[in-house]
Formats: sequence, C-alpha cells, structure tokens
Amino acid sequence: MSDTSDSVGGAAVERARLDVDIACVGFGPATGGFLTTLSRHLVKDDGSPALESRTSPGMPLQVMCYERADDLSFGVSGVCTRARAIQDSLPDLDPDVIPMAAPVHNEKVLYLLDPVGASRRSRLVKLGDLFIRALRFLLPFETDALRLPYIPPFLRKDGGLILSIGQFNQWIAQQIMGTGLVQIWPGTPVAEPLIEDDKVVGVRLVDQGVDKLGQPDAGFMPGMDVHAALTVVGDGPVGPVGRQLDERFGLPEGHHQREWAIGMKFVVDLREHSGLEAGTILHTFGYPEPEIFGFLYVHPGDVASVGIFVPTWFDSPARTAYRYLQHWMLHPYLWRYLKGGKLRSWGAKTLGESGRRGEPHLVGDGYARIGEGSGSTNVLTGSGVDEAWETGALLAQAVIELVRLDKPFTRESLQATYVSRRRASWMERESQVAEKARDGFQRGFVTGMVGMGLAGFTRGAVTVPGGPVPPYKRLPTLEGYYRGRVAPDEIARIQREALEKGGSVHGALMDRCGWPQIPMDGQLLVSHQDALLMGGKVQAPAGYADHVVFLYPNLCEQCGTKICVEVCSGQAITPGPNGVPAFDREKCVHCGVCMWNCAVPHPDDPERTNVAFRAGTGGLHSSEN
Ligand SMILES: Cc1cc2nc3c(=O)[nH]c(=O)nc-3n(C[C@H](O)[C@H](O)[C@H](O)COP(=O)(O)OP(=O)(O)OC[C@H]3O[C@@H](n4cnc5c(N)ncnc54)[C@H](O)[C@@H]3O)c2cc1C
Ligand code: SF4
Ligand code: SF4
Repeated sequence: MSDTSDSVGGAAVERARLDVDIACVGFGPATGGFLTTLSRHLVKDDGSPALESRTSPGMPLQVMCYERADDLSFGVSGVCTRARAIQDSLPDLDPDVIPMAAPVHNEKVLYLLDPVGASRRSRLVKLGDLFIRALRFLLPFETDALRLPYIPPFLRKDGGLILSIGQFNQWIAQQIMGTGLVQIWPGTPVAEPLIEDDKVVGVRLVDQGVDKLGQPDAGFMPGMDVHAALTVVGDGPVGPVGRQLDERFGLPEGHHQREWAIGMKFVVDLREHSGLEAGTILHTFGYPEPEIFGFLYVHPGDVASVGIFVPTWFDSPARTAYRYLQHWMLHPYLWRYLKGGKLRSWGAKTLGESGRRGEPHLVGDGYARIGEGSGSTNVLTGSGVDEAWETGALLAQAVIELVRLDKPFTRESLQATYVSRRRASWMERESQVAEKARDGFQRGFVTGMVGMGLAGFTRGAVTVPGGPVPPYKRLPTLEGYYRGRVAPDEIARIQREALEKGGSVHGALMDRCGWPQIPMDGQLLVSHQDALLMGGKVQAPAGYADHVVFLYPNLCEQCGTKICVEVCSGQAITPGPNGVPAFDREKCVHCGVCMWNCAVPHPDDPERTNVAFRAGTGGLHSSEN
C-alpha cells in the first residue's frame, strides 16, 4: 500500500493506495456469478497459484469486492428464477441449504379485475372485464380473478427456484469467502472509477468524516484509491460507478435507458393453513391499475414474498407504490391467502427495464460491465437474477482465459473473450427476443399485452412498433392525468392541503377517485411510516455525504409535479423551503426511484434528470428481501 495526493474542498489530501489485480464494484448476483466462477480457478490442488497475481508475484490473483450496503445480504427482489446459470455454476445445488429457497412447483398467471371500481381502465379494458364477468361460469374465474388457462413457455419457470435475494447473496458470499481467496467488503461504497487517458485503472472509495455536501468534517478520512488491472462493475440498475462510465464514454449509438420499474415488496409471515404451499408462484396483472404487475412467491415455513412493479409506461405523475401495494394485497383473490399474515420485512428498489436497448459499452480498457447495469435483465420474462449471474460467470471465464494467456485487460482482449461469449450465450438470444417486446405499452395496456405475446411467440420477429421516450416527455401534469375525474382547482386545493398537513397528494387524489381507505390491522395493513419502522430497518452511518442531490435547485423551484416527493419509497424526500425538496439520508432505502422519476431533464443531457444518485452507504438493512 502507498499514498497518492489530491484535493477535497480546496485542501490537499493524502489518499491511501492499494494495488490489486481485480477490483469489483457491488455484490449482487452478477458479482456472485463472477466470483464463484473465478475463485474456483485461482489456486491448484496443492494451494499454489493457478492464476498468478501481477501485483503480488507468487500469490494467486488479488481480488477485492466492495459493496455499498452495510451487509452482504442487501437486495430487493422477487425472486423466482429458472436459475439455469446458477445451477450450471452450482450443479450439486440443494435448495435446502439456502435459507428461504424452494423449488418452483405451482405457477399461475392471473388477470385481476377491479373489485372496487376505482382503477383507471380504458373502455376496451372495461369491455373485456364485462365480457369475462358475463362468461365467468365457463372460465377459470374466481374471486374477481381470471386464471390464464395456459402459461406461454417463455414465461414459465419450470425447474427453477424461489429465493430470497438477501439470503441467497449472503449464502453465496459465505461460499466465496470460505475459499479464503477473495475479500468482499460490505459498508464500502465506491465513489468513482479512476480513469487515466480513457483507461479505467481502478476505483476510489468514498470519503468518510465529511458533511452532507462532502466537505471534510470531524474524523475526515479520504477514500482509498484501489488500483486494479481490471475493474468489474456490477453495481446494479442505479449504480453510480456505471453511470459515471456512461457519462464519460456515452452509450452505444441508439441505446438509451428510459425504462425502469419501481419494485416494492413485503415479506409476509403467513397465517397457519393459509392454503399456500412452498414453491407456489402467482403472477398478476390488471389491478390496482392495469399497468401494475404483481407477484406472490411462497418460501418454505409459511413465508411469502409479495410485491408489485409500477412501470415507466404507467403515466401517472403521482404514484406512490406503497398505497398501490396495499390495494393489491387486498384484492379478494390474494387477500384470502394473506389475511391474518404479518409484515416481516419491507423493501423497494428500481428494476432496470431497458434490457438490451440500454446496454452500455460492455468493456473498455481496464474495465468490464456485468449484471443489470449492463442491460442483462430480460424485459419479456421479468427475469434478472439468473441473467446477471450468467454475465458474471462469462466474464470470469474470459478473465481466466486472458490470465492464462498472459494478455492484458484491454478493450480488444475483453471484447474477444467476454463480449464474444456473451453474444453467443442463451442470455443474448433471449434478450434479442425481448428487446422490443414491451414497446406496445407505449400505446396502452392492451396493445402492450398483445405486443408481449407477439414478441414471445414469434421469438421477437413480430413486435408492436414504438419506442420509449424519456420521462419528461411522457409524464402528463396532474391536471392532465386526472382530466375528467378531478377538476384542476380541486387538485390545487388537495396539493395545498397536502403541503400544509404533510400528507400525500397521491393518497388524497386516490381517495377522491373512489379508492377505499385501507382497513389498517397493525399487522400487515400498516401505514407507510409504520412499514418503514417495522420492516425497513433503514440505517445511515454518520460522516457521509448526501447521496441524493437535487442538481439545479432553481429547476425544482419551478417544478409543478414534485414527483420526487410523491414517489420516494422511504419518505426521505419531503417538501422543502422555496420549492426545493429536502432529503433525509436516514430514511433513504437507496431505491433510485427519485433519480429515474424526476420529471425535469438535466440541462446538459435530457436523458438524465435533475436528481443525481451518488455512492452512499447505509440504507435498507434486511437480509430477507
Ligand atoms: C421488487 C423486485 C422484484 C424482482 N423480482 C425478480 C424475480 O422474480 N426474478 C428475477 O430473476 N429477477 C427479479 N428482479 C430483478 C433482479 O433482482 C435483478 O435483475 C438482479 O438483482 C440484478 O443483479 P445485479 O447483481 O446486476 O445487481 P444488484 O442486485 O442490484 O446488485 C448490485 C449491488 O451493487 C451495490 N452497489 C451499487 N452501487 C455501489 C457502489 N457505488 N459501491 C459499492 N457497491 C455498490 C448495490 O448495493 C447492490 O448490492 C426483481 C427486482 C426487484 C426490484
Ligand atoms: S427533483 Fe425533479 S421532480 Fe423533484 S422537485 Fe426537483 S425537478 Fe421536480
Ligand atoms: S430518496 Fe432514497 S428512498 Fe427516496 S426515492 Fe430516492 S433513493 Fe429511494
């Protein structure tokens, strides 16, 4: 270890420097796949290096992995997965050894009708609902839900697993660290990539002992510079390191990241004899709004993961996923199972849904991108864990080949070994099928569903035309969205009252549109604030800068929707003085929703928004999501 110098807030600082062979950013399934594959090839049976380090000759490759969250079990996901890549890497995997894992054995897809008459359904959807109700005695229809009699093969999870991503990450991290060959450091956010002449030479860890603005404060400790021959970026859908690379190197021609979904979930202790067996999967669409998809996966021990996705194409400028999640749970088809259950854990996270179209430059001199931040998530099947794992495993194979051949980690060599493997993989073939599968949703829910079916059955040959547009172009005003339902002056009154009383504008508008009050039971139906306390366990160690930054306060002052306040999963963004929102780091769950949803484009790059999401520690502390 040696030191390097630079400056913070105008003052010179000495930074510790560490030299390793490989530095990894983030520990999710992608890095899990990378490190699992690589760690098996680092030493020979006699313990001598099989892949020798260049920084520490005589030793195996020196591999470091830095994870932002304060535990290696961070993660918010479903997860139901076909687990093809995971089972390829772990052929003897016995699901019983992973807490909360269960083999998939019963899968249903349900179209939920609206039992309360408050959702915003087009005439076509209403007509379809009437038709279904009229023929209900002939159809697989019960408690306001139509079970699809056939699940297309591209959606099925046969032979797959239901997992808790927190438990899976924790379990796989133990296996990797158990080899003694790789270090994984939780609670260690990476601030930025170190770039010299367009070559990534490693990463800089965040400064500690700073104030909210990042200026040195009591106990200031500048983040270490970790120099590495290869930097592996697996920082997920809102990863600040990946985003900085994109800002520096741009995206490939025609690529953009305009689609995402807010995923919000509960882990629920089911009542005894709930009627749900471990391994059961329910996928839903149609309610509480047609555009909102839902999932219910049953783990062993009468525990279920339940949640919804609020996608980009749901054009409401005021969308609190939390209230929708409650109405979704209360749908009669689901409530008969969930009634009597108890909230055990809660979580929210963004899901990057641009897929292949959002793929960044996968490699460059000194770096490679893996996982969801590299566009691996399949937007047709809603599957990301296995795909992320596969990208990591493929990169590890490439690294093994390059080290054996004593070749450097240049753009060309990584292209020839990693990218070529990725292009030849099942993951790539399936992501091509999925690439335009959801374009139909730009024209409405029904066209979207038709488009998905067409893309799936024709293997991507036929799709509904249309491409996603950035949020500032598609989000209507509140007045526009509620036209015909709530008058503009009433919206203004509701907004005023919400500001005075600190309530949710969306909540009040939902009340006004006929959504019933949630019958709170203190167990599963609890206020958003209570869910954060009972199931969120948010932590924010002192001495770190704010990681959510409103870049141009003057733009916030003029912003009418203030959608960042409404969408904030953790209630960490509240109305602030002069129209500029206030951010409370102690409530932030690092979901990234504010960054994607801000309705105002960045003045220099309209593909970005007025919210910067930077590297930060803390956030959700749950090992079960
Ligand atoms: C609610 C929800 C439900 C889902 N359901 C399913 C499902 O049923 N099936 C399925 O296959 N997929 C599902 N997904 C998608 C799946 O979870 C993701 O595709 C998958 O987790 C991506 O893995 P990853 O390793 O690329 O990224 P992530 O899992 O996001 O991991 C990235 C890691 O990087 C860390 N990190 C970020 N920035 C930094 C930094 N600066 N420094 C250090 N560390 C950093 C993060 O803390 C995180 O731990 C779901 C997602 C959500 C949100
Ligand atoms: S962050 Fe974006 S959405 Fe929030 S007030 Fe500022 S401009 Fe508006
Ligand atoms: S402030 Fe934090 S919790 Fe709120 S939306 Fe942004 S990232 Fe999510």
